[in-house]
Amino acid sequence: MFIDTHAHLGYESYDEDRELVIQRAIEADVSAIITIGTDVESSREAVGLANKYATVFAAVGIHPTDCAATTEADLEAIKELTADENVVAIGEIGLDYYHMRAPKDKQHHICARQIQLAQELNLPLIIHNRDSHEDMYNLLSELDAGRTGGVMHSFTGDLDYLHTILELDLHISFTGNITFKKSDANDLVTAAPLERLLLETDSPFLTPVPLRGKRNEPAFVVHTARKIAELKNIPVEEIESVTTANAVSLFKLDI
Ligand SMILES: [Zn+2]
Repeated sequence: MFIDTHAHLGYESYDEDRELVIQRAIEADVSAIITIGTDVESSREAVGLANKYATVFAAVGIHPTDCAATTEADLEAIKELTADENVVAIGEIGLDYYHMRAPKDKQHHICARQIQLAQELNLPLIIHNRDSHEDMYNLLSELDAGRTGGVMHSFTGDLDYLHTILELDLHISFTGNITFKKSDANDLVTAAPLERLLLETDSPFLTPVPLRGKRNEPAFVVHTARKIAELKNIPVEEIESVTTANAVSLFKLDI
């Protein structure tokens, strides 16, 4: 069985067929999906989906591109949502200097507060980092973010960066973009140790080859798993079993 550790099932692109998408995942042997919140409303939606579907779990948090107007009350609302037993992580949180929808100091503050919240609640982190490598590393390092575990989702950076993140005791996941012809992630995939790897789709985005161009969904995670197996030159069954065990252990999934 596979686990998709990062999907946005609340997106409106699933409004017509959400139930079928979750059903197709089960048929494709994707036995668990973590659906991710990016603000209070989508986090609440994620918890709702996790309560409705047995194979769905939730992560709650405020994304750096959604944090410009985040208040103390919003952080409190995120904390309250974690009381639900289907919430398995704080995320996605982080820094994003590519879209830059909030000033850097605001992004830092909201990210730091949520790392502290994860530590208070002993929950792992799901981290988003876009064009903010150095500051992201410094923040994670200063706050000892690896203490409760977590994953650098949709990992980008060079080999040195990969190693510094691994030294923080964090996991790594790659999306369908590693299957793209122009992907420059081959070295990263090869170098990422199996025992720290997770699978994810980031659905509805980043659809893997050969389905590129279509809306992404958790059932497609197998294509990314196959690409990782090919690059590491090991059977896909090994990627499947190890990444599933990693996800179950990191997120304490009851499956
Ligand atoms: Zn995401």
